[in-house]
Amino acid sequence: MKFLIIEDEQELREIIANYLNEDGNICECCDSLRSAIDKLSIYEYDCILLDIGLPDGDGFTVLEYLRVNKRTEAVLIISARNSLDDKLKGLNIGADDYLTKPFHLAELKARVVAIYRRKVFNSNSTLIFNEIVINLPGRSVEVNHKPIILTRKEYDMLLYFIANKGKVIAKNAIAVHLWGDEIDMHDNFDFIYTHIKNLRKKLLEVTTNDYLKSIYGIGYKFSA
Ligand code: CA
Repeated sequence: MKFLIIEDEQELREIIANYLNEDGNICECCDSLRSAIDKLSIYEYDCILLDIGLPDGDGFTVLEYLRVNKRTEAVLIISARNSLDDKLKGLNIGADDYLTKPFHLAELKARVVAIYRRKVFNSNSTLIFNEIVINLPGRSVEVNHKPIILTRKEYDMLLYFIANKGKVIAKNAIAVHLWGDEIDMHDNFDFIYTHIKNLRKKLLEVTTNDYLKSIYGIGYKFSA
């Protein structure tokens, strides 16, 4: 998953990012409201961890921005404020859940996994696309009842394609989703081709359906 961590306490921000990175997630970080809006105006994320008390405003402004721009990111508020009013306000204007500081990192992870699954995969622990069956908690994939072994990037890529099935996804969108926003500075995104080629090859070993199509000059499309 790709996270945007909006938190002005540097130590906490780094602890969260390091913890989530261990699982192969991509974490982008912001320490102010302004830098958060700057990031969001260019890039998309799976999940946003949002502190309410920021040096240049409050996190509710981010929720408002997401709502106005019809964004689909899952949002978990992480805030020291523990008033019922703040929680209700946050949930009312689009946050998916609320975690009060201090918290255990394991709980943070469990909450984000749950809200992301609820939001993107309707709470299912199994994601099915034709004969492809993905066990989300186990990060395992079966095709026609045969397990296939994917690398972490191939698995994340498959999930991203299925979440965006039927849409043409630009190469740079795939790259920033799986490698982080900095990759956008690269001149070309051909390095994703190797991963896509391997994923496609592994799928074609167990199914005759070729779901992953290259759209010349643009990117890729995953469709039945
Ligand atoms: Ca703060």
